[in-house]
Amino acid sequence: MIKKRNLVFLGAPGAGKGTLAQELCKEKKLAHISTGDILRSEIKKGSELGKKANSYVTSGGLVPDDLVADMVAKRLLDNDCQNGFVLDGFPRTVNQADLLEKALTKIGRKLDGVVYFEAAEDLLIKRLTARLVCKQCNTIYNTIFSAPAKKGICDKCGIELYQRPDDSLETAKDRLLIYNEQTAPLVPYYKNKKMLATINAALSKDKSYPELIKVLS
Ligand code: ADP
Ligand code: ZN
Repeated sequence: MIKKRNLVFLGAPGAGKGTLAQELCKEKKLAHISTGDILRSEIKKGSELGKKANSYVTSGGLVPDDLVADMVAKRLLDNDCQNGFVLDGFPRTVNQADLLEKALTKIGRKLDGVVYFEAAEDLLIKRLTARLVCKQCNTIYNTIFSAPAKKGICDKCGIELYQRPDDSLETAKDRLLIYNEQTAPLVPYYKNKKMLATINAALSKDKSYPELIKVLS
């Protein structure tokens, strides 16, 4: 059993938060809340939220804090969050972290911990630009580090994988710049609150997953 179940995963794009979040949530029955996945699905649906978010997501910029925070606050009310949740990709600014705290207080809940995935920049670029995602189930693959059994095809659904447009080299670099400016300050922010546990994100998934379970136990 893991003790910490209401979690934030923090780290640069490409650090492996999403991959480990998918695995952890499946095994421990936690709700996986990936703001990137929700936004991409809203864009695909053409919803009001999707229309507002489209240009930011495509260019690798940040969607305005209020929009994402409202979206997360609503998602946290869903039944599957009762047992615990992993926020993957949120908060991404100090302001979002404050909004999150307010939203949690309002529903009588609180964070148990924040896991920081630490990795060097060159590895991040390498991972991002080699990333492929399933169109149907959002499972993340990587042509260098965790290739699917059959090239370009999801192991689970048998359908085609795609490269996210924002994983192109140029946009990936922009996203890392934005991460360093706007999101990295959350590391000292949560450290000060004594909530931060750090994982070496350069490790392979088989090695980092046990590390993750250790810090949550
Ligand atoms: P990654 O972690 O690989 O950068 P995500 O799938 O988490 O990718 O996010 C993709 C894009 O969605 C971001 O570049 C941004 O435009 C938008 N986004 C996701 N989460 C947030 C957030 N918390 N605040 C603002 N924008 C967000
Ligand atoms: Zn799939």
